[in-house]
Amino acid sequence: MADLRPLIAGNWKMNGLREESLALAASLKARAAASGGFSCDILVCPPFTVLHDVGRVLRDSPIRLGAQDCHDAAPGAHTGDIAAAMLKDAGCSFVILGHSERRNGHGESDALVRRKAAAALGAGLSVIVCVGETEAERDKGLTFDVIARQVEASLPAGATPANTAIAYEPVWAIGSGRTPGESEIAAAHRQIGAALARAAGGASFRILYGGSVKADNAAAILRIAEVNGALVGGASLKAGDFWTIVETCP
Ligand code: PEP
Repeated sequence: MADLRPLIAGNWKMNGLREESLALAASLKARAAASGGFSCDILVCPPFTVLHDVGRVLRDSPIRLGAQDCHDAAPGAHTGDIAAAMLKDAGCSFVILGHSERRNGHGESDALVRRKAAAALGAGLSVIVCVGETEAERDKGLTFDVIARQVEASLPAGATPANTAIAYEPVWAIGSGRTPGESEIAAAHRQIGAALARAAGGASFRILYGGSVKADNAAAILRIAEVNGALVGGASLKAGDFWTIVETCP
């Protein structure tokens, strides 16, 4: 682990009715209060519908609130969308952008991700910009090209280590139970670091790994020197598993 404070972020995706979301948040808050200490920043990103309520539960805890997407425009006539300023108003300090389930499921381009990131930074949010190759791209040996292009084309002006993290999420590893080898993760993160240096002048950004991070593989992943935290999907829905990952942080 490099000398950046790691970030462990939970992406709840499209999961969580009100009651179960509040119970999950309360359980995490209780674990944080009972903990003897942890060495990472902690973030949960519930669905829009429970942001306010989860934020209320997490008040006075070290666990921060984030969202999973935002529109690139200011509040206005965009039926069904959510502006970055609304997320800030709901108590969010972060938003995940460019997740592969948005890039591939909603046709989001690098250019759109960049505009969304600019809107989020403009509203005072920090961003986690996701990048990662599909299995077909990996099989063709295109992993480094794809992630470098996504980093360089998705980062807006004004992205700094204080307001931006990158999540390397191989699409084939998300929700599959499969992960790249530790040396593959390290190499991909080094490529992302090089792309960040070209795109944002060499500053040292947090680069998270995401894709089937679980309680039982987190230690091995988080001790890779190039890994500065994790973006956790499925395992973030179980307080015990998510907290194990938090406490695993070196
Ligand atoms: C994700 O969707 O960001 C993710 C990493 O999911 P999972 O941990 O379930 O693979």
